Amino acid sequence: MIQLGTFFIISAPSGTGKSSLIRNFLKTKTGKNIRISISHTTRLKRKTEKEGKDYYFINKSEFHNMIKKNIFLEYAIILNQYYGTSKNVIKDFISKGIDIFLDIDWQGAQQIRKNFSQVKSIFMLPPSIEELYIRLKNRGQNSEKEIIQRINMSLLEVSHCHEYDYLIINDDFKKALNELAAIVIAERLSIRNKKKIQEKLIKNYFI
Ligand code: 5GP
Repeated sequence: MIQLGTFFIISAPSGTGKSSLIRNFLKTKTGKNIRISISHTTRLKRKTEKEGKDYYFINKSEFHNMIKKNIFLEYAIILNQYYGTSKNVIKDFISKGIDIFLDIDWQGAQQIRKNFSQVKSIFMLPPSIEELYIRLKNRGQNSEKEIIQRINMSLLEVSHCHEYDYLIINDDFKKALNELAAIVIAERLSIRNKKKIQEKLIKNYFI
């Protein structure tokens, strides 16, 4: 039986709480078998981040080399920095039947959708732009100038939310966590997925 994992793209404006939602979801019963794709980026590592856990931090010339070698499934330039998803990581998980989360922006989501029609994409919204500003400020990881840049980037990101399959508004963390679980469970139960996973089994019912 061929068992293919499902691709879930999650995009959200910076500061929406996406990373902590994903982190907590992966500890739940529904999320425990899901893997998250670790991206490569040229942006500087934040104090709280770890190499190989949050990102693979590389410089621009290394990133360009990887582009030339066709290593990326998708990549995007965000606030002058490169971010990309390597093909190998994904291929390995999907062929082993492991569901995978891609935490990528709307540009990456567009590229993935073009190549993988089965992908399911989730957009997360903060309760409001004012709330987003407060969260970014409280996070203490960006200067005022960077916060303004990130807010502008967020507005652009939000303008693409209609391209996604699902929408979660993160105004209540527990509710958002339940909604994410509901999406993953619904996908696992979908006839399309069941067909993909259990084609032979379904055939037996009708022959
Ligand atoms: P941050 O710098 O806050 O970690 O991430 C900035 C943005 O880059 C977020 O919207 C995040 O989803 C996006 N991002 C992270 N990794 C990738 C990637 O591999 N590809 C794309 N297209 N976007 C990414």
